Amino acid sequence: MKGEITSKEMPMSVFANVVKQVDHAASLLGIDPMLVEIIKMPRRSVIVKLPIQMDDGSFRVFTGYRVQHSIVRGPAKGGLRFHPDVTLDEVQALASWMTWKCAVVNIPFGGGKGGITVDPKTLSKHELEHLTRRYVADLLDVIGPESDVPAPDVNTNEQTMAWIMDTYSMHVRHTESAVVTGKPLIMGGSLGRREATGRGVMLTVREACKRLGMNLKGATAGIVGFGNVGSVAADLLQKEGVKIIAVTDVMGGVLNRKGLDIPGLIKYVAETGSVVGFAGTTPISNEEVVALDVDVLIPAALENLITAANADKVRAKIVAEGANGPTTPDADEILTRKGIFIIPDILCNAGGVTVSYFEWVQNRVGYSWTEDEVNGRLELVMVSAFADTYRVAQEYKVNMRVAAFMLAIRRVVDVILLRGVYA
Ligand code: NAD
Repeated sequence: MKGEITSKEMPMSVFANVVKQVDHAASLLGIDPMLVEIIKMPRRSVIVKLPIQMDDGSFRVFTGYRVQHSIVRGPAKGGLRFHPDVTLDEVQALASWMTWKCAVVNIPFGGGKGGITVDPKTLSKHELEHLTRRYVADLLDVIGPESDVPAPDVNTNEQTMAWIMDTYSMHVRHTESAVVTGKPLIMGGSLGRREATGRGVMLTVREACKRLGMNLKGATAGIVGFGNVGSVAADLLQKEGVKIIAVTDVMGGVLNRKGLDIPGLIKYVAETGSVVGFAGTTPISNEEVVALDVDVLIPAALENLITAANADKVRAKIVAEGANGPTTPDADEILTRKGIFIIPDILCNAGGVTVSYFEWVQNRVGYSWTEDEVNGRLELVMVSAFADTYRVAQEYKVNMRVAAFMLAIRRVVDVILLRGVYA
């Protein structure tokens, strides 16, 4: 992954935030508090110490985590993050969000997440390969195609997934593609996976416009973050007639009120590493994009972009959360009070895990789908998840975030009630 994703500005406990979100939605559903206790806490959190021999012959010990928040609806599913700020608290929060995200889009997965506390920029490719393989070897009895399926996240990519697949396969003595998703196409990756999250953002924005009586064609948008999610969302929204007038990345931002040439900007970023200095634009900061007079604001970078300090300045009609956790709970209340329509992260960016599910299905069947088939099925899933969430929001008169949590919790709890609690 490109760019700097830092969680330094995150509150002391991100997991406490998720717990708050779950408690609130569960109380509106009138769920038995004992069941709420079961669904709140991760079922399994594993910490591994990973001694790695560095290129110079010395040893360093890294800490890795894998959290399975829930396997009620299927194998735990969630990415593996390499970042110096990774903590157990953060991995638990991200694993919990995965449970609710998979339930919102109604795919048969639970929630999981992994992380290694490391700055990958300080390691050689060889050292990163060792670290990844050692992590997998230590978690052999935790991950697996039937139990827990990792995927890329911040600072991990197709190459990392290839190492995971290979290490696992060597130990189980056969090639096991379905142990991980987000793989290179040549070894069982899915067509459409790279664009899936951005495509989901475009689809949910389109659905929101329909509900709000807004015309997507001619609508304006500002985007914070121009990596995998932000650039694909920008490209697909522009193809739908949306005018993207501002984009930022970790180095700075660009504004053109007549609309940015997104394919040109993508090419420019590939050449220069940043949006900064793109021809025909003036500079703009994140804070200015947040306060921009646009129809749609898309946070697609890091956590906690919209906080109590700037939520009041948001003028967009729709906030579409491409990133995970871009809005703090306090800011959420302010946006809702202002009548801004929030497409919450666990719905808005669920396109990625949905196509990961398709990849897992294709691997298990031993067959690959065409890109049109993948995109068509993704559209069906996203449109239906949006409609389900919107229905709950209307019925309970809550915002889309609370509705998404209510929908997801209901789906998880209903399965628990049918399976029973094995005690
Ligand atoms: P990425 O690394 O490809 O891109 C991140 C972008 O954010 C880069 O353009 C980077 O320059 C920019 N950025 C970083 N710090 C910034 C700052 N301070 N101000 C402005 N821009 C900044 O990552 P990505 O895959 O696009 O992920 C972005 C977000 O979407 C993350 O929250 C991630 O967890 C979430 N997400 C990604 C996927 C996926 O499939 N890639 C799926 C679901 C959620």
